[in-house]
Amino acid sequence: FNNELQRSEKMEIISELAASVAHEVRNPLQVTRGFLQLLSEKSSGDEKRYLTMALSELDRASSIITDFLTFAKPEFEQISTLNLYDEFKHIESILLPLCHMNGGKLILDVADHLWVRGNSSKFKQAFINIIKNSIEALGDEGTIQLTVYSKADKVFIHIKDNGEGMSPEVLIRLGEPYFSNKTKGTGLGLMVTFRIIEAMQGDIHFISKKGVGTESITMLPLAGDLEVPTP
Ligand code: ADP
Ligand code: MG
Repeated sequence: FNNELQRSEKMEIISELAASVAHEVRNPLQVTRGFLQLLSEKSSGDEKRYLTMALSELDRASSIITDFLTFAKPEFEQISTLNLYDEFKHIESILLPLCHMNGGKLILDVADHLWVRGNSSKFKQAFINIIKNSIEALGDEGTIQLTVYSKADKVFIHIKDNGEGMSPEVLIRLGEPYFSNKTKGTGLGLMVTFRIIEAMQGDIHFISKKGVGTESITMLPLAGDLEVPTP
């Protein structure tokens, strides 16, 4: 119990820190972007080329913040009834370029007419973080299979990849803040995911085998058909 308490307190602090970092860093990035944009409009040749590169790197920095820290905004959280097909179609469109760049395939098999209650951007963030990891783990002939169905009053979301897989030592540490085995990793992805799933009264676990692949299984409460969606 004690450990649990400490863990959630730690997460609370990290989450708040992340929110303010995201907020504080985004503004100077945007201001810098504006000035570079002005300069690039007046320039040509090499100078223009460098400025264009600088602009696109700035955009990349903002999108990393957006990808990882959008959820952390300390703003009022809007909860609605989310259609899983729509949500995953949107997630697919966000991740497909990255997936193709890594030579991977993303196969979606999402049953229609399934709903859950939650915040749409947090939901997306949770699954983007899982699928991104799968993409980053892929080797040749990489495939990610996403299967969504319901059973009784639950929704099951399976995300299975044939990537590098994990050893039991890595598996047990998933979701630990700053735990990463990547040179450019943040080690925040799954921590964020676990938090979001937990807040949605769901459950998630991972099965993995080194050299074979990884599968995550997420269970969420199904929102009834008859429930009126919140505007
Ligand atoms: P990051 O991706 O920034 O390293 P994450 O919290 O998203 O942080 O993941 C933590 C670690 O878990 C990764 O560095 C990786 O070692 C491992 N991992 C997570 N998902 C997978 C996967 N699908 N295949 C292989 N390893 C994974
Ligand atoms: Mg990650």
